[in-house]
Amino acid sequence: MKSQYDLIIVGGGPSGLIAGCFAAKSGAKVLLLEKMREPLRKLKITGKGRCNITNTASLPEFLNETGPNPNFLKPTFSRFFNNDTIDFFQKIGVNTVVERGGRVFPESNSAVDVANKLIDYAKNCGVEIRCNSKVKRFHFYENQITGVEIVPNTILKAKTFILATGGASYPATGSSGDGYPIARELGHKVTSIRPALVPIETKGETAKKLQGLSLVNVKVNVWVEGKKVDEEFGEMLFTHFGLSGPIILSLSRRHNETIQQKKNIIFSIDLKPALDEQKLKNRLQRDLDENGKAKLSNIFRKWLPSKLIPEFIRLLNLDGEKLANQVNAEEKKRIQMLLKDFSFEVTALRPFSEAIITSGGISLDEINSKTLASKIYPNLFFAGETLDIDANTGGYNLQIAFSTGVMAGEQAAWFALA
Ligand SMILES: Cc1cc2nc3c(=O)[nH]c(=O)nc-3n(C[C@H](O)[C@H](O)[C@H](O)COP(=O)(O)OP(=O)(O)OC[C@H]3O[C@@H](n4cnc5c(N)ncnc54)[C@H](O)[C@@H]3O)c2cc1C
Repeated sequence: MKSQYDLIIVGGGPSGLIAGCFAAKSGAKVLLLEKMREPLRKLKITGKGRCNITNTASLPEFLNETGPNPNFLKPTFSRFFNNDTIDFFQKIGVNTVVERGGRVFPESNSAVDVANKLIDYAKNCGVEIRCNSKVKRFHFYENQITGVEIVPNTILKAKTFILATGGASYPATGSSGDGYPIARELGHKVTSIRPALVPIETKGETAKKLQGLSLVNVKVNVWVEGKKVDEEFGEMLFTHFGLSGPIILSLSRRHNETIQQKKNIIFSIDLKPALDEQKLKNRLQRDLDENGKAKLSNIFRKWLPSKLIPEFIRLLNLDGEKLANQVNAEEKKRIQMLLKDFSFEVTALRPFSEAIITSGGISLDEINSKTLASKIYPNLFFAGETLDIDANTGGYNLQIAFSTGVMAGEQAAWFALA
């Protein structure tokens, strides 16, 4: 039987939508199946509602932010990279601005606007979007995918297919990891998945007491089994369960496997990273000398945010009423040490429901990096977060979704129309 469609895309996230646009522009008749009542639900909440579309980083910098096998993306990025994304969005009516760290946002500051423009453009390109259509499995005959089965028991046929079901994080948006069993059933390997860019839980009550406090310009050192393995500088936040904020999310992505293995892992905050030990010692001494009659709690006002001071004094086991000129050498040492090593024992990652992305996914081993086609089924292509690729915060993950979407969309269309 002749298929009604050249291409069926499973998943209406950014990767699936842009794949549809580029496939349709290449001449393919495209059907996109989305299980929720509307596509792009996750995109609408990205970047705290502002949508950090991409990052202006150079290719080497970009690859540095990506793992576990960034080189896999080189052919994809040579087809469609960050400047192409900016041009594309401008063309569909989304002007962008570049902010700190090369982060690109829509001028409107509205993720909903970005999503609506993308949906409108896909429809204008001729992509048929069918919502409330959850794909259960793919049907195949020998090494050809023949159709997709949607609930209830309907099989839709096409010449080519793209699996773009996203990861398993924020499942309420529709991304609940459906692509993994679908791929496994087809004989594709799936690596173990973990929540990534996710807050962490810590032992004790200190973080909880400080909840809501955010620290800027601090360094977090990561110690695993007594060995320093990593560090990150920037902004972080205390919560009722532990630690969050940009640098914590990045570190949790890099160490999520270690955290899940329940190794002894310490996140130690250096509250004064700009001062080495000697400078810190001199500065503290100077402050104590110049303000001999001041209470210790008042001296700390120069050093720390006020919300942190009571807990800091408690951890030092000192009396905040003590006068600066009464602080002895051993107490000074303790103050210096705590300023440099305010440490938290990590006990767990927060769940997938709070993770920005998913680490792990459909293995890249059986996917052709030049086309994103399956090495098992030549008419099956992959795009987006369902793949075993992820990156840091900063617009990198959406760029990966857009780039893989464009590559898979065009390649699938050309395959179907050849
Ligand atoms: C709170 C939050 C903020 C974020 N902010 C940013 C940011 O500012 N910048 C950035 O770069 N990245 C950000 N990300 C990450 C980014 O949103 C994702 O990497 C990106 O959405 C992945 O796109 P995707 O198309 O692969 O998958 P998704 O966006 O997850 O879309 C997958 C789609 O497939 C559908 N689907 C799933 N299973 C089926 C099925 N069986 N049948 C039919 N349809 C199915 C889902 O309903 C969903 O619509 C953020 C993530 C979160 C959770």
